[in-house]
Amino acid sequence: MKTSSQHIGMGARIGIGFIIVLTLMVALSATGLRYVAEANQRLKQIALNNNVKIELATEMHSALRERALSLHSLPILDDPFDKDSEIQRFNAQGILYIQARDRLEHLPLNPQESDILALIRKLTREAQPEVQAVVEMAMFNSNEQDVFARIRKFAIPAQRAIAAQVSALLELQRNQTEVAVMNAEISYKNVRNLMIGLGTAALLIGLLITGFVIRRVSFQAKQLADQAMYDPLTGLPNRSLLHDRLEQEIEISKREHKSFGVLLMDLDRFKEVNDTLGHDVGDELLREVGRRLIETVRDEDTVARLGGDEYVVLIHNLDPKGASFIANKVLAALDKPFHWQNQSIDIGASLGLSFYPSQCDDASSLLRCADIAMYVAKRSGNGYALYSQDQDRTSRGDLSLKSELREAIQSNQLCLHYQPQINHRSGRISGLEALVRWNHPQRGFLPPDTFIPLAEDAGLIGPLSRWVLNAALGQLVSLHQRGYMLNMAVNLSARNLHDMELPANVSRLLADSGINPKYLTLEITESAVMSNPSDGLIILTALDKMGVTLSIDDFGTGYSSLAYLKRLPVDELKIDKSFVTDMEENDNDAVIVRSTIDLAHNLGLKVTAEGVETQGAWDTLSILGCDQSQGYLMGRPMSVEKLELWLRESAYSSTVASALHAG
Ligand code: C2E
Ligand code: MG
Ligand code: MG
Repeated sequence: MKTSSQHIGMGARIGIGFIIVLTLMVALSATGLRYVAEANQRLKQIALNNNVKIELATEMHSALRERALSLHSLPILDDPFDKDSEIQRFNAQGILYIQARDRLEHLPLNPQESDILALIRKLTREAQPEVQAVVEMAMFNSNEQDVFARIRKFAIPAQRAIAAQVSALLELQRNQTEVAVMNAEISYKNVRNLMIGLGTAALLIGLLITGFVIRRVSFQAKQLADQAMYDPLTGLPNRSLLHDRLEQEIEISKREHKSFGVLLMDLDRFKEVNDTLGHDVGDELLREVGRRLIETVRDEDTVARLGGDEYVVLIHNLDPKGASFIANKVLAALDKPFHWQNQSIDIGASLGLSFYPSQCDDASSLLRCADIAMYVAKRSGNGYALYSQDQDRTSRGDLSLKSELREAIQSNQLCLHYQPQINHRSGRISGLEALVRWNHPQRGFLPPDTFIPLAEDAGLIGPLSRWVLNAALGQLVSLHQRGYMLNMAVNLSARNLHDMELPANVSRLLADSGINPKYLTLEITESAVMSNPSDGLIILTALDKMGVTLSIDDFGTGYSSLAYLKRLPVDELKIDKSFVTDMEENDNDAVIVRSTIDLAHNLGLKVTAEGVETQGAWDTLSILGCDQSQGYLMGRPMSVEKLELWLRESAYSSTVASALHAG
């Protein structure tokens, strides 16, 4: 969307640029042509007028000259006929002169021309009586000498004065023509300069536009290439560039008979950080992880981000023997806490490594194998794992299990085992924890750790949890009917805390069974609560309002803050079995158990310990004030049949039913 609007913007700008150039060219041609046409027209007009004027002035001039000649001839002609025709010639020239002058006066004249013509007219008027007199003298045969004398003295000078003015007029017109030609030349030069100027401007703008277009296009091409090849958040190569690099690396390694490694990394607690501290912190963390990875590996290695919190490092010249060194180096780089404002954030990672050519020989399988190894690392909590074919079998097994699980829930292949929970003060059973098993037709009994994560992945955790709740409540109804007024604890998964329907479902199942909600405990692991604090709080509050007991399972393994814990509507903490089982040997674990019990009691919570395997552990927990415990010492998780037997025979149970019956 963004790029298409950018294209439109650029297209518009180029279009505008071309329109400017085009307009300039059109303006240039139009102005040039107009100038030329105007100059041409002006010149034509001037030439036309001046030619006419010069012609008329010349006519006047020659008429005057002819009349002067006639004046000279008249006194010497004896024959009256000759005289007569000479006078007619003289008069005819006078008419020609007057006609030429009149026509001249009707042409458009400039002031100078008008002045000269006015002067000519005045001189003509003044000369007329004398000329007339001389002609008459000549006509009537006056003395030839007198006539000559008068002609020389008056008529000729008068005629000359007029002729001089006519010559001046002619001269003026010649000058004007010259000036007009000069002006036309100047106009032409101006037009030429203007056209050269505008042409150069258009050329420059055209060049600018071309330069701009070339720069824009290459910039956008680079941007598009970057978008296609680099992760916008971290600036690291993305999946497709990584694929290219992997393929190149395979070619090089093939030629040089070398091996290389692919390290795939997934952050362990990224979702928690993102959910609790916000996306900005999450983004910054992802960038920082990228920076640390780049600092850790060599320049020629490629660090890429596949998306989410997954990174891949392509490591040159690496074989399985050298893998642990590089894996530990990467883990150490991420071990240093990340700082944000005044908070320090610990974030672990799981790494999976695969190798060319010993394990895989193409880019896709290298990534797939590294991914399988990464899952193995994640599950084992070992930090990193190298790919092996067994893992592949397991992962393929996982896939087929996933597809079988849906069927298993519907066809009752799941069953519940129950583990008793013993009250420390009374030494008697107070409740049971329902633990799901899968009675797989081919593989036998599968423990929940093998299929609960698959159910979460496959989106089956909702139906699975409903099945467990329903079965556990059914069992509880049967126990209550027989007087065993026990409590029933059911485990929920992290994904259940995203399901806003959960409270309504629990409420309906409780109503259907007729069980008082106070007999139902729902266990949520500490990390499940922390991974989704906002929705989690809403769901837990709704369950609490219903009167259900809420318990934080595996307490001590997550990272819940005390402040947050106080805000949760929980009633119980379950200390993780890892602390309890090692408590007698490990002082640190003992301290954790002791302080967890104190902390829980200070917050008004009950404490259950799990993993009690020895009498020593039981006794210690009693001394520390633990409320109830479960563990192999008192009873393993057992089938319904075994539970019936246990309830009848166990010392922890002996008096419960009768006592309750009596109560
Ligand atoms: P959990 O809720 O912490 O359950 C306690 C686990 O500790 C059980 O493993 C139990 O068999 C084991 N355990 C009990 N006493 C001892 C002991 O003295 N020593 C040792 N070493 N282990 C002891 P199990 O049944 O394999 O369950 C594993 C986990 O699977 C459970 O941990 C729980 O988180 C999950 N799970 C079990 N059933 C369900 C279920 O119905 N729904 C969900 N979402 N999760 C379940
Ligand atoms: Mg539990
Ligand atoms: Mg537990």
